Amino acid sequence: MVERSGFADVIDGVDGPGVVGAVERLVTIPSIGGTTAEVEVQDYCADAWRADGFEVDAWDIDVPRLSAEPGFPGMEVDRTEARAVTARLPGIGDGPTLLLLGHTDVVPPGDRAAWSGDPFTPRLVGDHLIGRGSCDMKAGVAAMWFAVRAIRDAGVRLRGDIVLAAVSGEEDGGLGTYALLDRGISADACIVPEPTDLDLIPANGGALTFRLRVRGRATHASRRTEGVSAIDKFLPVVTALQHLEERRNLEVDPLMQRWPVAYPLSIGTVQSGDWASTVPDLLIAEGRLGVALGETPEQARADLEVAIADLCAADPWLADHPVEVEWWGGQFASGRTDPGTPFIERLGQVHEALGHGTPEVYGGPYGSDLRLLVGAGIPTVQFGPGESAAAHAPDEWVDIRDVIACAQTLAAFAVDFCGRA
Ligand SMILES: [Zn+2]
Repeated sequence: MVERSGFADVIDGVDGPGVVGAVERLVTIPSIGGTTAEVEVQDYCADAWRADGFEVDAWDIDVPRLSAEPGFPGMEVDRTEARAVTARLPGIGDGPTLLLLGHTDVVPPGDRAAWSGDPFTPRLVGDHLIGRGSCDMKAGVAAMWFAVRAIRDAGVRLRGDIVLAAVSGEEDGGLGTYALLDRGISADACIVPEPTDLDLIPANGGALTFRLRVRGRATHASRRTEGVSAIDKFLPVVTALQHLEERRNLEVDPLMQRWPVAYPLSIGTVQSGDWASTVPDLLIAEGRLGVALGETPEQARADLEVAIADLCAADPWLADHPVEVEWWGGQFASGRTDPGTPFIERLGQVHEALGHGTPEVYGGPYGSDLRLLVGAGIPTVQFGPGESAAAHAPDEWVDIRDVIACAQTLAAFAVDFCGRA
């Protein structure tokens, strides 16, 4: 049985206006992956956490070395510089270590005309804080930070350590968390406050970025039947991929059954042709393939490659000019922590005891850093403010009441998990 009264000191210590101000400050730094602001926001965290009296470890990530390693999770933007930051609130005993990890990189704002204001000038409309990165996941970063501040401010000494980690490069692969694990960080449990609408997400489907090259034969459009259009040859490829997606989603893990498509296969870009009156001789399409829970990336890649190969074998032109499949960029494996793991159940109980509702437990259809942490043997769950549908969208928003609730739950849970000294 978890009682709210057992955590009153740290819950009341959560600085509501402070945590909202921190989200706003973080949103003003336009930390799009691959830009200098991605480094700037990391430096901001390092300075702020140092000023808070935490033990900060900030270092330059050796991008060339890590990106050459076989287990490297991929990178989709040019990046020569990246920083990693951790901050430790040390315990005074042999209690367990809790890692709170969040990414500070954001995706580009997209069409600015679709925004009601500047994406990097945060504004409050009612309880909604709007701005790129507010939901994904600067609100989560602020919540975990202010949870630890509340513990410090309440003068609570813990038996185990709490470690805050700010990482970059999550959106395009997971460079930051990969670097953190390379540094030798370990923990007994990890919470990633990605936007889960304060539900518990202990599993993620994976996502593998691919590129297809479909070849045709160029000729003048007035004699098109004597050429071969790469666009025409791409059409059956789309159909084959749709069938593949259908087949791969016939039976899914119970944690994933709430999603209309648990493991989506989607084409994101298509480029073909260089002249309106020329039959195009090349089409390049890029997309992402969902990886099922319990499936390896190798198995998923083979599934797509076989589907493409079967299609090509049945078409005389494609048999001679097979569609080329390239795997590049983010290669997110799936990941799964048993939802019955005691710390996950306990986190839900603490959240409920604080009067914030009963979190649902399910898997997310997207890839994230969770799989790297789980892969390194750190049981991990995502639990954070914001609805994932608002992430990456114009007028991205987060409800500030959820940010404060999350900070309170994280503070109480951390005390419960690490133990009072
Ligand atoms: Zn995110």
